[in-house]
Order: sequence, then structure tokens, then C-alpha cells
Amino acid sequence: MRNQAATQLLSELSVPGRRAAVFPPSDVPDRPLDELIPTRFRSSAPPPLPELTEPDVVRHFVNLSTLNMCVDTHFYPLGSCTMKYNPKRHERLARLSGIGDVHPHARAEDTQGLLEMLYELQEMLGEIAGLPAVTLQPAAGAQGEFTALLVAAAYFRDRGERRTRVLFPSSAHGTNPASAALAGFDCVQLNSSVNGLVDVRELTSKIDESTAVFMITNPNTLGLFEKDIAEIARRVHDVGGLVYIDGANMNAILGITRPGDFGGDMMHYNVHKTFTGPHGAGGPGAGPIAVRPLLADYLPGPIIARKDTPDGPRYELTTPPKSIGRMRSFFGNVGILMRGWFYLRTLGAQGVREVSETAVLNANYLLAKLKDVLPVSHGDRCMHEFVASAKGLKAERGVTAMDIAKRLLDFGYHAPTVYFPLVVAEALMIEPTETESRETLDLFAAAIREIVAEDPQTLRDAPHRTSVRRPDEVAAGRRPVVCWQGACEPA
Ligand SMILES: *Cc1c(COP(=O)(O)O)cnc(C)c1O
Repeated sequence: MRNQAATQLLSELSVPGRRAAVFPPSDVPDRPLDELIPTRFRSSAPPPLPELTEPDVVRHFVNLSTLNMCVDTHFYPLGSCTMKYNPKRHERLARLSGIGDVHPHARAEDTQGLLEMLYELQEMLGEIAGLPAVTLQPAAGAQGEFTALLVAAAYFRDRGERRTRVLFPSSAHGTNPASAALAGFDCVQLNSSVNGLVDVRELTSKIDESTAVFMITNPNTLGLFEKDIAEIARRVHDVGGLVYIDGANMNAILGITRPGDFGGDMMHYNVHKTFTGPHGAGGPGAGPIAVRPLLADYLPGPIIARKDTPDGPRYELTTPPKSIGRMRSFFGNVGILMRGWFYLRTLGAQGVREVSETAVLNANYLLAKLKDVLPVSHGDRCMHEFVASAKGLKAERGVTAMDIAKRLLDFGYHAPTVYFPLVVAEALMIEPTETESRETLDLFAAAIREIVAEDPQTLRDAPHRTSVRRPDEVAAGRRPVVCWQGACEPA
């Protein structure tokens, strides 16, 4: 939609003297302003705020909101990010006064209900992971990784072991090496084998007594289950290292298999991905971690503990004896954590398993519908997502993954993840999630088929129907313009 209210800034729409509400004259006698606020504390002129009617303001923001794509307006197959539908019921429940209005400094005695729910969430996450010790503290997946690596470092320090290296496959998410480097480890990358999985022989040749942690995503970022994971874990354990499972892809295995059962020692959840916290644009999130009992003493506090008393269970905040300390203020992003609690309690054990079964079915359905036009480099089957490649299209007709992604916007679809994982040329990483219907998947597949048959120039010029076309993504990241010049102090 292109209208005045959406394309002009509020300051440009401003008309001097225009007001949202006109109040009757005050019948309270005026006191001299100087008596209320001394001159030296007052500015000489009112701030240059836009002057508008209420409808001007409402239309401006509502129209702006329609320029963006979101899960509530469009199919959003953004691989690795699990952009599933976020039930509105959970939004309402998370805002209930006993949750939304609780002050983080409130005494434990006064917030027993909330603490009980958080305790239950710890228990449920421990059960789903097969790793019983849980902290809800980390604010996102990446912070969960960082937290777990600090926990691992504390564990090895305590044992008097000097282990300096963290290993990860070349298909790893960029946060894995970033977290390892931030936690002070040396990063070692393994090449994936031709079938897209970890090469056990290469792993074995690179691990030794200096290995602290092997980080692995399972299913991996190609949407493939690492079938040798038990053997991989055994080899890492044989040299005294720990196995970290990046849990971003839990949507594929919920209730079917558990990281703790296939050899993981620690993992993070992305509550905002797997358990429907609305996310995107950098937040909010929650990245609880679950670890084996031998690492429990090092977790950051506070952790919610349950104490049985003659008057029934009491919940309190505790800090493990050798804790690495806090990772953030208070006890986590409670609003997102609670949406996860509602999600899990609504679905129950059977429902949670069906989530993954349906997510895997949907991804395979789409893979089968698309592989003849967008080949999938690794395997004919996938877990909850798959990585297609536009390499052939690029060679034949000069059409890139980026062109297809941009053209999809014209068709009313959010683009899939592109150019990740790095091991696939011209990658399009597609994750439909379980919340989409067969009709939506059929329409999306039809759109892709139509797009790849289009004139290459149409694709290179796409998108044609969005308010912004191809922004310079590097400049947008490095030199963001975050305020309108006229509203800022001169630089
Ligand atoms: C999203 C993601 C992360 C990072 O999680 P955040 O919550 O965005 O910090 C790590 N690994 C993988 C595979 C991911 O998809």
C-alpha cells in the first residue's frame, strides 16, 4: 500500500497547532511557571514534536506495519529459524497479571505460582533433552552456546585439565565458532563428508587431549540426521571431551529422540523457534541450556528449586555451588519462557511428538515437489528442512538464489534462508514447519516453479512490488541509519 501516511514521516505530516485532543480550558487557577519549575530547568522552546491528529498517527503506524512480512501475514519458510505460527492464546496467557505484572525483585514467597511454572519448564526441557540439569537464564540460542562453553571451561578447570580447542563441522551455524572464540577457545573446523554428514574419520584424526568440546547440530543445517552421532560422541568422550548439541533444530526430533540419549552432554534450546515465541528482528528470545548431572554444579544461577515442606512444595531461587555466575539479569526472558510452557502444556507428550512428525512430513512433501527444478544436493529425504541449490540455474541462465528469494517477495512469500549453510553453492534453505497446510505448500511450490521459468531479467530486477527493493545489506549492517536526520542532533 502506498499512501501518504505510509510513505511520509510524521514530522513531514505535521501541521503546527494540530492536536489529537482539544481539552477545555483549565478551571484550576494558574500558578506562575517559575514557582513550579525554575527557569534554569526549563528549555526555552517546546521540543519539535510532530503535531498531528490521532487518525494521522494511527494510519501512519498501521500502514507501516503492513509493509513488512510476518508469520501472521505470509508463509515464512526461513530455514533454521523455525518461523512457525505463534498461537495468540499464548500471547494472552503470558500477559496474565500473575506473569506479566510480576516485578523481578518480588520475593519468592509472593511469586510461588510463577516459580512453579518456571520449575516445571526446567523439568520439561530436561526431559525432552534427556539432560536433566537446566538453567533458563540465557537470553537466546547464541548466549546459550556461550553459557555452555563457559560451563565446560569451568568443569575442565576444576578437574585441572587444560583443554583449548572447540571443534565444529563446516556446516555449523556462525554462532558456534563465534561462541567458542568468545569463550576463549581455539576454533577448529571439520570438513563435511560428501554426503553432508560429519566424517567420523576426519573427526577422529583431529581430536585429542586438547579437545574441550565438539559442537554439532543434529539434525544438521542441511536437514540431515547425523546417523553416526552415537559413534561420534563415543570418540569425543574417549579423548575426554564433551559433546555440545546446538538445539536450533529440535523441531525435527521432539519426543522422538533425545540429545542426551544419542551422546550429547549439553545443549541449548531456542524457545522462540521451537516453542513459538514470536521472533525476528533480533529478539526477544530465550536460550535455556540443559546439561548432564556432572556439569550441573557450574550452571549460572538462579535456578528454581523445589523443596517439599509439611505445607506442600515451595519453590526458591538457588545458585549452584561452583556456578560460573550470572549470564543476564534476573531469571531469564520470562515472557518468552512462559509462552514455551503454555505450548508444551497445551500439546502434551503426544502432541509434542506430532509437532516433529508433521514438520518432517511437510518438509519432505515440499522437497519432493521441488527437487526437479531446484535440486537438493544432499539426499532425497530430509528432516524438518532441506537445502536446495540454484547452482544449475546460475550456470545455465545466470539466475541466483538471491534472485529467486527476492522474486518470492513479489509472490507474497517471505524468502527462505539463502547462502547458508556455506557448504552448498547458491543455497536456499527451506523450512515449512508443521503449522502450514498442504494447500499452502502446494501454492508455494507452484510459485517457485513459475519463478524459475521466468525471464532472467525479471528475476534480476526483483522485487517489483515491495516498498524497498534491494538494499545494500552490508552497508545496512555496518552503517545503519537509525534516525531521521531532521530529528537528530547534528553530527
Ligand atoms: C538460530 C540458530 C542459532 C542461534 O540462536 P539465536 O537464538 O538466534 O541466538 C544457533 N544455531 C542454529 C543452527 C540456529 O539456527
